[in-house]
Amino acid sequence: MRAEPQDFGRVLSSMCTTPHPAAREAAEQFLATNPGDPDTYQAVADLEAQAITQLAEITGLASPHGYVASGGTEANIQAVRAARNLATTAEPNVVVPDSGHFSFQKAAGVLNVELRTAPTTDEYRVDLDAVSALADEDTVLIAGVAGTTEYGRVDPLGELSRIARDVDALFHVDAAWGGFVLPFTDYEWRFDQVPIDTMTIDPHKMGQAAVPAGGFLTSMPDVLDALAIDTPYLESTDQATLTGTRSGAGIASAVAAMEELWRTGYRDQFQRSMQNTEWLADAFADRGFDTVSPTLPLLAIDLPDGLFSRLREEGWRISRTGAGELRIVCMPHVTREQLSAFMADVDALRAR
Ligand code: PLP
Repeated sequence: MRAEPQDFGRVLSSMCTTPHPAAREAAEQFLATNPGDPDTYQAVADLEAQAITQLAEITGLASPHGYVASGGTEANIQAVRAARNLATTAEPNVVVPDSGHFSFQKAAGVLNVELRTAPTTDEYRVDLDAVSALADEDTVLIAGVAGTTEYGRVDPLGELSRIARDVDALFHVDAAWGGFVLPFTDYEWRFDQVPIDTMTIDPHKMGQAAVPAGGFLTSMPDVLDALAIDTPYLESTDQATLTGTRSGAGIASAVAAMEELWRTGYRDQFQRSMQNTEWLADAFADRGFDTVSPTLPLLAIDLPDGLFSRLREEGWRISRTGAGELRIVCMPHVTREQLSAFMADVDALRAR
C-alpha cells in the first residue's frame, strides 16, 4: 500500500511545517549521506560546519561549536549530558521551568540526573525565586525556554543566567521553536546579549528545513569534548552526537533553508505568522472565548471540551495545553484562509 503524503491543510498544532522548496530539494540530494562519519562523507560534513556558522549568526554566537541534531529532544538531552559529564558531583540535578519541554524528563531519566521543575508565574514565565530555591551546589544545569511549547513565552534569561553562575551550573536556553522568530522581537535571548553556555535551536521548526534538523550550539569548546567518545571502526575517530548514523538530508536542507530565508524571508514569515495569530485571537475574543494573549505566533484558547472534540472529528489537527486550552501554532503553512475556514467550523459546531 502506498501512503498519501501528509496534507497540512488542517494541521494547526504542529511545530513542524512544510519545508521550503529549496530545503526539500537539498534534502533529497543528501539522503544517502551520513555525517556521523565525517571523514567518509566529507561534503555533508562541510555543510554541517556551514549550518553551524549560519546558526551562530542567527544566535549571536562568536566562536561557534555545535552540530545538527535530530531535533530539540536530542539537543536538550545533550545539554544535560554535557553538564553532567563536566561536573564533579555524584548527585547531579538540573533545574528546568515546568513549562520546559518533556525532553528534559527523558534527559533526566536516561542520564540518571535529578530533574527539579520550577513553577511558572501568572505570566507563564519561570518563577525566579523558585529557581533560586531549587538550585544548589549539585545543580549542573539551569534551563530557560525562549519560546515555550504551550504558550510561546520567553523566560527571564538574564536573571536565570545569573542564578546559574551563582551555583556554578551551565546555563542552557531552549530556543528549539523560538529561535527563528525571536530575531525579529525585542527579547534578549542571543549569546551576545546573555551569558549562555548551550542552546537548542531547530531548523526543522520555524526554520522551514526538512525533518530531522535540530540544532545544538555551545559557546564552550569543552562541551563538545565532554560529549565525545572514541569511534574505533569509523574513518573518523570520535563522535560527540547522541545518534550514530545521522541524516545528511536534515543538514543539507537546513543550510538551503537558511541560505534562502535568513534574514528577510524569516522576518516576513514572522510578521505573517504574528498577524495571523493576532487575527485569530481577535476572532475568538469577538465570540466571547478567553485567550492567552500571544507574544509569539502561538495562541491558547479556553474552549469547551465538546467543541474541541467536534473540531477534531472534522479533521482539524489540534491539541491542548496541560491546562486544557486549545493550542494553535501559526507555523508558516498556516494561512489566513485556513484560519477563516477553522473559525467557520467553530461557528457551525458551537451552534450544534
Ligand atoms: N523544545 C521545545 C521548546 C519544543 O517546543 C520542542 C518540540 O516541540 C522540543 C524542544 C523538542 O523538539 P523535537 O520534537 O524536535 O525533538
